[in-house]
Amino acid sequence: MAASALLRGNLYRALRSWSGSGATVVSGRGLSGCITRYQPSPWHSVPTSRKSLSTLSSITYRRYTTQTAESKEEEPAPHTIISDTENVQGVASKHEFQAETKKLLDIVARSLYSEKEVFIRELISNGSDALEKLRHKLLSQGSALPEMEIHLHTDPEKGTLTIQDTGVGMTQEELISNLGTIARSGSKAFLEALQNQTDSSGKIIGQFGVGFYSAFMVADKVVVYSQASEPGSPGYCWTSDGSGVFELAEASGVRAGTKVIIHLKDDCKEFASEDRVREVVTKYSNFVSFPVYLNGKRINTLQALWMMDPKEIGDWQHEEFYRFIAQAYDKPRYTLHYKADAPLNIRSIFYVPEMKPSMFDVSRELGSSVALYSRKVLIQTKATDILPKWLRFLRGVVDSEDIPLNLSRELLQESALLRKLRDVLQRRLIKFFLDQNKKDPAKYNKFFEDYGLFIREGIVTTQEQDVKEDIGKLLRFESSALPAGEQTSLSDYSSRLQAGSRNIYYLCAPNRHLAEHSPYYEAMKQKQTEVLFCYEQFDELTLLHLREFDKKKLISVETDIVVDHYKEDKFEDSRQASDKLSEKESEDLLAWMRNGLGSRVTNIKVTPRLDTHPAMITVLEMGAARHFLRTQQLAKTNEERAQLLQPTLEINTGHPLIKKLGQLKDTDQDLAKLLLDQIYENAMIAAGLNDDPRPMVGRLNELLTKALEKH
Ligand code: ADP
Ligand code: MG
Repeated sequence: MAASALLRGNLYRALRSWSGSGATVVSGRGLSGCITRYQPSPWHSVPTSRKSLSTLSSITYRRYTTQTAESKEEEPAPHTIISDTENVQGVASKHEFQAETKKLLDIVARSLYSEKEVFIRELISNGSDALEKLRHKLLSQGSALPEMEIHLHTDPEKGTLTIQDTGVGMTQEELISNLGTIARSGSKAFLEALQNQTDSSGKIIGQFGVGFYSAFMVADKVVVYSQASEPGSPGYCWTSDGSGVFELAEASGVRAGTKVIIHLKDDCKEFASEDRVREVVTKYSNFVSFPVYLNGKRINTLQALWMMDPKEIGDWQHEEFYRFIAQAYDKPRYTLHYKADAPLNIRSIFYVPEMKPSMFDVSRELGSSVALYSRKVLIQTKATDILPKWLRFLRGVVDSEDIPLNLSRELLQESALLRKLRDVLQRRLIKFFLDQNKKDPAKYNKFFEDYGLFIREGIVTTQEQDVKEDIGKLLRFESSALPAGEQTSLSDYSSRLQAGSRNIYYLCAPNRHLAEHSPYYEAMKQKQTEVLFCYEQFDELTLLHLREFDKKKLISVETDIVVDHYKEDKFEDSRQASDKLSEKESEDLLAWMRNGLGSRVTNIKVTPRLDTHPAMITVLEMGAARHFLRTQQLAKTNEERAQLLQPTLEINTGHPLIKKLGQLKDTDQDLAKLLLDQIYENAMIAAGLNDDPRPMVGRLNELLTKALEKH
């Protein structure tokens, strides 16, 4: 398909169709796709700066315990260990789970979570909710707060894990309705959704609160002791094996709050091991507001910085937190603490690492590395879809109450909520970077130097024009209007444009010297127009994709020259007639050159716009052509290239070399032929269309020998 488009002569279209969807040249692979093609071995070594989570969390843990206000002195260790004080009284009553609950239990146990370990997170977050409710209740009554804690206890001999909180607890009715039926609001919707869906798989269930039932993924029996916080409330014992019924009985010795005892299935006994449980709690529940103890030892010591007032957070806290969350040893160079309540509830912190990303980081095809929390409880360490892919260099946390805790990975990807979150965050982050540029342009320029590849990728892989332009504001270039080394943006360029001007011009070249001495720039200079100089190999592709900025067309000067030909009559040639070949001489020379170059060019013409260069090659859509040749490696010989590119050779009839050629063609055919070939070859090199000049060394030597013959 690319080849047929090429035959139709439109390289740009060919480039686009070759690479997939119309709007995405690199077809969703991002720039890294190109990098792997351009750079033979971009990642020979994996960076050593990322440490394993477990080592890091223990480091951070130690430092925190000595630095935070709630440090050791206030915590006599070991803390009250869970003990068996409960006794079931009288006869237990048998209850059937609601029919829907049974179905739910089945589904939960089979398909809700990819990892079983999350049941611990669910039960801890229930404990935390219960404590939150109690705190709210007591505070609104003006009563004093009792001990507010969550305790975990592992018993490898019995094969149990116990989780106890000192929260609101449940009355008999609440035990029946909360743990036996699904009558809560979200569950109603769940049932309806379930009825509309023939395949009752995990697809929809994840959207609803089924946290408690996740215990049955690992338990063959669950015992719940609970006592409502009201003084004088009796204690109860709730028991079930998760099949179809549960039993309920009054119990004595129950502490106010709730205690859940999980009798682990044979293949889940790992959760009776203290180390395993600590690992899970550290992973998911490190930021829970209430103290969590495992076998009497406090394990969650980190503060959820993202929930705090940004003004109250010191730099060292950010550094500590960054190291924990990014598993890195460096510091953040930028920190954005962003909170919003509308349109979505968002509590977030983003960091840009101080360390320059390696090629390995750039080429990683994974999504974002930001962790997703819902009310301080971890949902995913690397929430790949929470940010657009190009922002994957960020580290940090996003916490949103609007995201249901029980979302499964698959659901997260599709959710409309997440798309919205992604948009809001992207917009906010772009604004943040623009603000940073205003505050400290030098620091921003360094950021752009280190992370510019991601920004370019963002433009190439984004579909919506307005978003592309938004990201485009982050680009930086040198400009013909500014001294070397000074950076400018598309917005600045726009603002310098004279009223009525509709184009932004750019020229891609390896460096400033080559840009300023390029024949294309020379041709443009006479127009007195500012030209952006693009030195990075992906600038061209990026700007081709961006196409427009602020209602102005982005135009490569190489393309402009071609398009501008139509207006060439208007172009004033200031040179004297005696300084250049006459019309007749030019005609003769063009005819001879046409013959000599044959199929290597489609057209040859005279241009009045060159000054120091004897000739230049022009091709419609030069940038696309160059990119296409490079990535496809199709055309090896000049003739093959010419067929693809349909180049025009434009000559400067005032240049000594061209004037000399006009004479030589009649006096020394051999030398004239060599000269012609070299002028053509030089023009191809200047156009960036010949990457390998080695084959012409033979000719150059011949040419030099001839030139020196007479000396
Ligand atoms: P969710 O937490 O999303 O409401 P769960 O299945 O986790 O759903 O819990 C169901 C209900 O059971 C909770 O809403 C709460 O009313 C009650 N519950 C569960 N665990 C506790 C607890 N430890 N203390 C008090 N109530 C609890
Ligand atoms: Mg819950």
